[in-house]
Amino acid sequence: MTNNELHRFRAILTASVAELEHLIRQRDGITIERSADLLEEVQAASERALAVSNLDREFNKLRNARAALRRIQDGSFGTCQQCDEDIHPKRLAAVPWAQFCIRCQDAADRNPEEIQTVAHFPESRRMDLEVPDAVQRPVRKAA
Ligand SMILES: [Zn+2]
Repeated sequence: MTNNELHRFRAILTASVAELEHLIRQRDGITIERSADLLEEVQAASERALAVSNLDREFNKLRNARAALRRIQDGSFGTCQQCDEDIHPKRLAAVPWAQFCIRCQDAADRNPEEIQTVAHFPESRRMDLEVPDAVQRPVRKAA
């Protein structure tokens, strides 16, 4: 991969990280409102569940984008973390944070446990992101 390409990917990933951080910060206030109306309350609960699952997805994407930025720094970007082959440029263009080549990704999707024990993910242990309160805090019943 040329330096130019690396610069481009770094710019894309940096922008994604900024965007996701912004999104996540906005979601920080997932509101927990109590309503006397049962139907409203059920609806609010499902909206909350949706917001939490979106947040979860955004966190994952953020973690992946940050890990990809670290791989740019340590020189392993664009190399499959499983088999050490180059990740196809088309795949990287579509998924800049891809850490596996398409073949290993397929295998991982089919058999997630297997690949996790083979591959090591040092970056996942360095994740220092805090989960916002709204996700951790259990829903409390109104007094
Ligand atoms: Zn691979």
